[in-house]
Amino acid sequence: MLATINSATAQQIGVMLQNNSTLVHRMVPLIMKQYHVGENGYTFLLDEDGTILYHPNRNLVMRGWNDLVPEREGLKKLLDGIALIELNGQKQYIIVTRLPLTGWYVASALPEFEVLDQLRALSRTSLLSNLGAGIILLLLVTFLLNYMLKYIPIIIKQLHRIAEGQLTEFQMVPSHDEFGQISLAIREMAHKIQASIKLIHESAFYDALTGLPNRRFLDEKLTQALQDAKRLNGNFALIFIDLDNFKWINDTRGHKFGDELLRQICSRLIGIHRDGDMMFRFGGDEFVILLQHIGSKQELEHYVERLRTAFSSQVNLFSHSYYINFSAGVVMFPDDGATEEELLKNSDMAMYHAKALGKNRIQYFSSDMISTLLEKEKLTQELRNAVLNQSMTLQYQAIVDAQTSRLYGFEALLRWSHPELGPISPDQFIPLAEEVGLIVPLGEWVLREACRACRLLQDEYQPMSVSVNVSVLQLRSPSLIDAVKHALHESGIDPKHLVLEITEGIVIENFEQSVEALRQLRAIGVRLALDDFGTGYSSLGYLKKLPIDILKLDKVFIWDLDIQSSNSKQIVGPIIDLAHNLGLNIVAEGVETKDQAEMLRAWGCDLNQGYWYSKPVSFEEIKNLLQRF
Ligand code: C2E
Ligand code: MG
Ligand code: MG
Repeated sequence: MLATINSATAQQIGVMLQNNSTLVHRMVPLIMKQYHVGENGYTFLLDEDGTILYHPNRNLVMRGWNDLVPEREGLKKLLDGIALIELNGQKQYIIVTRLPLTGWYVASALPEFEVLDQLRALSRTSLLSNLGAGIILLLLVTFLLNYMLKYIPIIIKQLHRIAEGQLTEFQMVPSHDEFGQISLAIREMAHKIQASIKLIHESAFYDALTGLPNRRFLDEKLTQALQDAKRLNGNFALIFIDLDNFKWINDTRGHKFGDELLRQICSRLIGIHRDGDMMFRFGGDEFVILLQHIGSKQELEHYVERLRTAFSSQVNLFSHSYYINFSAGVVMFPDDGATEEELLKNSDMAMYHAKALGKNRIQYFSSDMISTLLEKEKLTQELRNAVLNQSMTLQYQAIVDAQTSRLYGFEALLRWSHPELGPISPDQFIPLAEEVGLIVPLGEWVLREACRACRLLQDEYQPMSVSVNVSVLQLRSPSLIDAVKHALHESGIDPKHLVLEITEGIVIENFEQSVEALRQLRAIGVRLALDDFGTGYSSLGYLKKLPIDILKLDKVFIWDLDIQSSNSKQIVGPIIDLAHNLGLNIVAEGVETKDQAEMLRAWGCDLNQGYWYSKPVSFEEIKNLLQRF
């Protein structure tokens, strides 16, 4: 650093020089040498005229100031300041102080390069220290950030687990600060998601009414059962259950009743549940049981027996007791199907066979059911052709006054003669026509044809009525009213001469709707007959409510009337009375013998129909018949 000689030192030097002793002359250089200026700097002494009294370079002693300074910078001008001048051929910083007593000058000089070096060193030091401070600051910030953000990875992990669908067993942030709260909130959110998923799963895979797994669940379980059975060379069985007459129950008793019935069925099924079995609600009144561990056919039969027994006792519904009847189809893997679809389809097919055989039974699947189905498909196609080509015919059966044996009218009965199979019974092809949607056009054709025939007979002989059978699907079809009006209009017969026969089951299965349709028909002026009375529900309650005119007592009550042991005698008389009391005319169907006809006459029956009078015959034949009557 640039050091200066303070005034006290200068005074000291001045005093010593005034004394002018040799000691002083020797001392001055020693004193002056003490004042080091930096590494390369030095101090020198000049008298008031600028003559050099002391200089570390002895050669310069006694030389003048002007010899040192080429630019002849005045010594006085430099007093008490720092100047950069060229001194002795070198750029130097110089400080000049005047000694007060002698008027001499003390000058300190330091080469410029040293000053610059020092400045450079100084800035490097400050850079390093700045750098150091920066690093410390950086470390401090990093430490603080690390401390503050150390829980972020846990939170990210929690969120990742949620994204992957793992909603339990979280690692939680072990603190109560904001991070701890976020972590808790995430856990809470995961619990809520889990609850929602459970709810969605339940509504997607379980039936809300019975709580049983639904059809979707069955699909999954069936796939799994199939895979397991294939892998382990095992068996499993499916039982497809469909309630008998559930629709009727639902329509007549109401949906609340129907719902309760389904719940009762569910608890009956659960009552026979074994480990590994699963019960499903397949659809409305359809249930499926999956028996996963069935070792043999015997074991399956044993289970089926348990199922039968489970429904053998009555259920209590709204303080009444009822029997639940169902039809079921049973299949076993691998014998009855190789895929889920095949097994389900075959169990369904077996169930349909159970229905066709008269309901309320359990049917094991057999492969000839498939051939029956194929035959049915072929038959359907042929029936379709017959309807299209109008190759069907009508036969007519006389209906006779039971008291006088005079002709009252006739019933039109549809006939189909199959090109290969010959005549097919309407009991077979009418249900088929209903099933495949042919009954409405077919029924309309029958109506027109029967009315036309009636008109021809009326024109030729006497007023008479024609009875036409109407299917349930026709009754439900909005086109029936128009079809009836059209047939009446086209033939020109009086509406009172047209009797529409509706079977009991049809009406009761859809009571309210049927009653409304019947009222509309009656409003046209046609008369209505309840056909086959006694074979279905035979509910007297319904009989009272139905807008009908005629009751047709089924032939099951008639055919054995003349057999001694028969109890039909006790039934038919009271039914005739009952019909009369309800203001209805009664027709006895299937009268085959004279004795039967006699009995019915004696009991006051209104009309008879049966082979005793005439079999169903062609239009040509009925003309002959009319002449006979
Ligand atoms: P249904 O209306 O009860 O007709 C009476 C059935 O009893 C007829 O059978 C008739 O041939 C038969 N029958 C008449 N008298 C006697 C008898 O003394 N003894 C015996 N054993 N049977 C007798 P069919 O012609 O086979 O008709 C069966 C059923 O098919 C009919 O029963 C009716 O429900 C239905 N059907 C017939 N034609 C039509 C139609 O055009 N449309 C609709 N929807 N159904 C029809
Ligand atoms: Mg009939
Ligand atoms: Mg009948």
